[in-house]
Amino acid sequence: MSPHGTTEPGGTTRRALLAAAPLVGSAALGLAGAPMGVRLARARASDTLAIGDIRVRVVSDGTVALPVSFTLPETDDADLDALFRANGMEPPREFVNQTNVVLIEVGERRILVDAGSGPTFQATAGRLTDALLEIGVAPEDVTDVVFTHGHADHLWGAVDDFEEGPRFPNARHVMGETEHAFWTDPATPETAPDWLKGLALGAARVIGTLGDSLEPAGDAAELAPGVRYVATPGHTPGHASVLVESGGSQLLVGGDALTNALISFQKPDWPLGTDLDREQAIATRLALLDRLATDRIGLVGFHLPFPGIGSVERRNGAFIFASG
Ligand SMILES: [Zn+2]
Repeated sequence: MSPHGTTEPGGTTRRALLAAAPLVGSAALGLAGAPMGVRLARARASDTLAIGDIRVRVVSDGTVALPVSFTLPETDDADLDALFRANGMEPPREFVNQTNVVLIEVGERRILVDAGSGPTFQATAGRLTDALLEIGVAPEDVTDVVFTHGHADHLWGAVDDFEEGPRFPNARHVMGETEHAFWTDPATPETAPDWLKGLALGAARVIGTLGDSLEPAGDAAELAPGVRYVATPGHTPGHASVLVESGGSQLLVGGDALTNALISFQKPDWPLGTDLDREQAIATRLALLDRLATDRIGLVGFHLPFPGIGSVERRNGAFIFASG
């Protein structure tokens, strides 16, 4: 596997070109400045969304795949088929999930919500650095990296490809204190279910490499003006979303609280194999869906179809995800 995630044709050339360009901020090398062919080949960053004075973009780290049987261990195939066909879609043979990293710009701060997975998790992921360079953001420009939780696809990309130091060398890294306590507890790899053991060892390793640049924060901590954690536990013990609020608008960066555009919204009570506490995750989803729909809060979902931006609407006593 390439240490830089540039296994696609042209990746290295593009990276070299962008690395040679004067990176003096997104205005100097925005999408308008990117070569047209590159832009059309892959859209890996969304348009900029304005939440009051705060600017938000979604940048893709690639995709990660999960088997259906692992994701939905308690759901009959017939029920899954019926849900997808009722929405005019073929039932999935596996779940190919997007990985939507969010870049929040508040004043001079450039805050990443999650850091992708780096090169060692799945070959289709680990593209974040290249995607950021395409919009003129160099690793040195990132001031904060805020984690929703400690799973590989959110945390492992925070260290460089050789796991020798932070990928974003000038950034303060923040993880909710409940989440941090879980992944740094030496008992976690021992007591975790089998599928989580490797992830637990990896999380502890990455947290160790981040060293003093990583600070645990309160589960409702203010992260920057207008940006704060909201506890949304269940997927992991300290899973947290990030609420962006400015000028009367709100956007929730929901991490893995809502992971599938059909299942999480129309069948939020289906237990997921990826949730460590399935009951708590269901309660969190139901409360979150109600709040997002009632208060008309926008949503970015980490694994929803790129760029994962949309809103939650009520329909027939349940909910739907309306993208865009
Ligand atoms: Zn995830």
